[in-house]
Amino acid sequence: MADALPDRARIVIIGGGVGGASVAHHLAERGERDVLLVERSELTSGSTFHSAGLVGQLRSDPVLTSMNVYSAQLYAELEGTEHAPGWVPSGSLRLASSPARMEELRRQAGWAQRSGLPLHLLSADEAAKLFPLMSTDGVLGAAFTPTDGHVDPARLCSALAARARAGGVTIAQRTRVTGIDLDPGGHVRRVRTDRGDVSCEVVVNCGGMFAAEIARLVGVRIPVVPMSHQYVVTAPLPAGTLGPDPLPSLRDPDLLVYYRQEIDGLVMGGYERQSAPWTATARSYDAIPADFNARLLTPDWDRFTEIVANAQVRVPVLADTGVATMINGPEAFTPDNEFCLGETEVPGFYVAAGFCAHGIAGAGGVGRALAAWVLDGDPGMDLWHMDVRRFGTHYRSPGYTLARVTENYESYYDIRYPAAERAAGRPLRTSPAYPWHAAHGAVFGEKAGWERVNHYSVPGSEGLRPRGWAGREWSPCVQTEHEAVRERAGLFDESSFAAIEITGADAAAFCAYAFAGRVDRAPGTVTYTQALNERAGIELDVTLTRVAPDEFLAVTGTALGPHDLGWLRGQARAGGQDVRIADVTGGWACFGLWGPQARELLAPLTPASLATADFPFLTMRETTVGDVPVRALRVTYVGELGWELHCSTEYGAALWSTLAATGAQPGGYRAIESLRLEKGYRAWGSDIGPDTTPDEAGLAFAVRQGADFAGAAALHAARARGISRRLRCLVLDDPHAVALGGEPVRLGVDPRADVVSGVTSGGYGYTVARSIAYAYLPVAAGPGTPLAVQVDGTWVNGTVAAGPLHDPTGARIRL
Ligand SMILES: Cc1cc2nc3c(=O)[nH]c(=O)nc-3n(C[C@H](O)[C@H](O)[C@H](O)COP(=O)(O)OP(=O)(O)OC[C@H]3O[C@@H](n4cnc5c(N)ncnc54)[C@H](O)[C@@H]3O)c2cc1C
Repeated sequence: MADALPDRARIVIIGGGVGGASVAHHLAERGERDVLLVERSELTSGSTFHSAGLVGQLRSDPVLTSMNVYSAQLYAELEGTEHAPGWVPSGSLRLASSPARMEELRRQAGWAQRSGLPLHLLSADEAAKLFPLMSTDGVLGAAFTPTDGHVDPARLCSALAARARAGGVTIAQRTRVTGIDLDPGGHVRRVRTDRGDVSCEVVVNCGGMFAAEIARLVGVRIPVVPMSHQYVVTAPLPAGTLGPDPLPSLRDPDLLVYYRQEIDGLVMGGYERQSAPWTATARSYDAIPADFNARLLTPDWDRFTEIVANAQVRVPVLADTGVATMINGPEAFTPDNEFCLGETEVPGFYVAAGFCAHGIAGAGGVGRALAAWVLDGDPGMDLWHMDVRRFGTHYRSPGYTLARVTENYESYYDIRYPAAERAAGRPLRTSPAYPWHAAHGAVFGEKAGWERVNHYSVPGSEGLRPRGWAGREWSPCVQTEHEAVRERAGLFDESSFAAIEITGADAAAFCAYAFAGRVDRAPGTVTYTQALNERAGIELDVTLTRVAPDEFLAVTGTALGPHDLGWLRGQARAGGQDVRIADVTGGWACFGLWGPQARELLAPLTPASLATADFPFLTMRETTVGDVPVRALRVTYVGELGWELHCSTEYGAALWSTLAATGAQPGGYRAIESLRLEKGYRAWGSDIGPDTTPDEAGLAFAVRQGADFAGAAALHAARARGISRRLRCLVLDDPHAVALGGEPVRLGVDPRADVVSGVTSGGYGYTVARSIAYAYLPVAAGPGTPLAVQVDGTWVNGTVAAGPLHDPTGARIRL
């Protein structure tokens, strides 16, 4: 018998897998009763029932780590109830079978310290004591996380669903969503099912690999691809050979394999180098059969041969052990191996899907965050790396999405070096100056589909090559480009920066409320400003130009356009204002000319007076450069005199050629990064974000006093409480030790001191000749405080600097 279906519910969750059940449980736990979960078949009948159930907590992103830590705690807590999910706190081992992997393990140990997660580095022999079946051949070491474990996925899903039901959630199985209706304002208002319609205000799409199909009902693109993933359950192993009970799970990423105990045998799976997308092609979106529930795919032994061979290398007894079952199940993978969470561009339509084979580990944390997002309008933490708005419109292409997902799956266990570039789907988005860059030796990186110059292949000195990870993608050309900006002038292509136009009768009033800075100024002014959320956290960090009384242009980071656009539109909807907010990135090329000679190089090309009296810092003038009409903005992200020159895209190639002919040194984003670190300019997504307030970030100067703006009440409340931490510039004693972000930080020189923080961003400053890092430190840790940062596993001493290392008074930018 089908469960009863109400005709209305405030919140409808689609999907009865572990994701939907967890969202339902957490909504109920927050006291929300008006919730309906619909499942087209039966609970757990999607990807959840065939999961291997491993729960690993550590991720490079501390927020995701904290979510997984919460999951493990929740599953352990449920184990003591009538709805025990079969939680086994087995611990887990991760082996290093190569020097590079050992280096990665040391860095991961640092991430664990930063996140407060117990993780011990062990020798190969120590690891073998915990997992006696393993061969230690080629093993250089291991990381042991004692609080990891595994769980029975179907029982976990049932336990969460039972909790949700007990909390008042209605669960309707055998109820298929066939349509979703929007109101005239584009907001979710009704879900149509094969058993009747349900009016609602919010829909949470927990459709797993079906999430893309469900989102297509409202014209939203969720870039997930069903990928076949396989593991085997072995026959029982000889009695007494397994080792400790419970046996820790084991991952050997160099061999692409993982194992866990299954009664008296093992579960063994892996990530093949040759992936198998299911039903999605380069020309068409997924087409999962309507009756694909509680079903598996046909085992693909050919593809699994590589995994079997590798598995026997690490656990030789498997060569003589039979296979009881092979599981080949489809799972939703995303282009970057992170979840898809949050509200989409359709108001009221949320998603929690795309779990990339760590949905069991993540489900607890995901459910809690989504419940907060729906009920509070904010997940309560910085989920940018998992926010569905990180994907631009180019992911509407099934071919591009497939290429990125495939590359991601096939490199699942590869070491993710921060500066490494991906190859799939390139080139896609290019600046009008792209042919020039390519012809002049540019080395490109990719961000949000854009080809961006990392650096050119200019001759330079050998200079300083950092040790470890920072030295891997290092080039002496960056130093040459950096020094040119400080000493003469550099030229940069920033056309990828997202541009958002805000126009309309209420544009000025809207901006005055949405942004924390004083933006209601005369046309032609530029304001560096933030927009704050209800926790006073920094949601947006932009330069806002008032182009006309009713027109503003916000320039933000390359990958941040959809996020910033979504946030601004949400504010406009909430305020009911008459504004149009549009992404105009593609309409504009943008080039930065900066350095002490910028004025003298630019002056002969333009009729505008560039004298400070006529063209002060933080102003914009409409003029021409060469034959090109431009908006010239006197702003900088490198800490030198100069201009950003914005022109309509069709003029871009001509403008770049004109500027390149001035003799300014063309440079790339690596030089910009080094320059901005010296100057102390913040980067959203690393130094600042939704979890950091302007006061903590040292940006209080950019906030209006005594004004009413979004987040003002929270900011005032935070000020009344007083801040406990502040973003500080750190300099390390060893210039060859360069932090990249994520490294743990401890105060003082005592090696037993606790880790207090993590590096937000770091790099080398060529002008100041220092290794620089930024981190949030307790307020008392002021300038001169000694500290240590763990770079590639080694503690390096350093000191808190007094302020920006370069031009602390800002004199050079106001020349
Ligand atoms: C072989 C394999 C091994 C794995 N091993 C691990 C592991 O060790 N550790 C780990 O953390 N993760 C693992 N995973 C991943 C994990 O299983 C998934 O991430 C997780 O189960 C996904 O849960 P979900 O709720 O998002 O999706 P699902 O469980 O697929 O649930 C989605 C539900 O939505 C329903 N639905 C779809 N369309 C509609 C509609 N129109 N109307 C109503 N309902 C609809 C479906 O019927 C389905 O039940 C593994 C996955 C696979 C395939």
